[in-house]
Amino acid sequence: MDPDDDPAPPAEAEPQCPDCQDALQSGGRQAISFLLVDTLTVPVVGCDGHLEEFRAICELTTEDAAQLLNHLPAGGIQCPACRNHDQAGGMPLVFVEAGAVGVLACETHAKDVIETFKSGLQTRQQLGANGPL
Ligand SMILES: [Zn+2]
Ligand SMILES: [Zn+2]
Repeated sequence: MDPDDDPAPPAEAEPQCPDCQDALQSGGRQAISFLLVDTLTVPVVGCDGHLEEFRAICELTTEDAAQLLNHLPAGGIQCPACRNHDQAGGMPLVFVEAGAVGVLACETHAKDVIETFKSGLQTRQQLGANGPL
């Protein structure tokens, strides 16, 4: 385990971005998108700008492009636990700069996506301030 691992932000932490706040408060009923990264298809909630940022960071760790869809992908969600995920229990938030993305997946896959995002962030930091583009 990484000794520098930051403790998770408190559950009541809120993103500064008002668009993300709106999207999260709707519980994903209006603004749901699907992140396709590696073999995962994970429903995510957030504003367009921060979802795109989230996607771009995840993509840094994957060989294939990460994609963001605003409709259910043709193959659907493979994992039955993700498909039936109960949002009433809350969802993990991933903070992306001033925004936050909610991950509407089962525990296992939410963790996978969050790990992907974290290693993407590290990769980006290693690439330096100018970034890959
Ligand atoms: Zn936002
Ligand atoms: Zn799952």
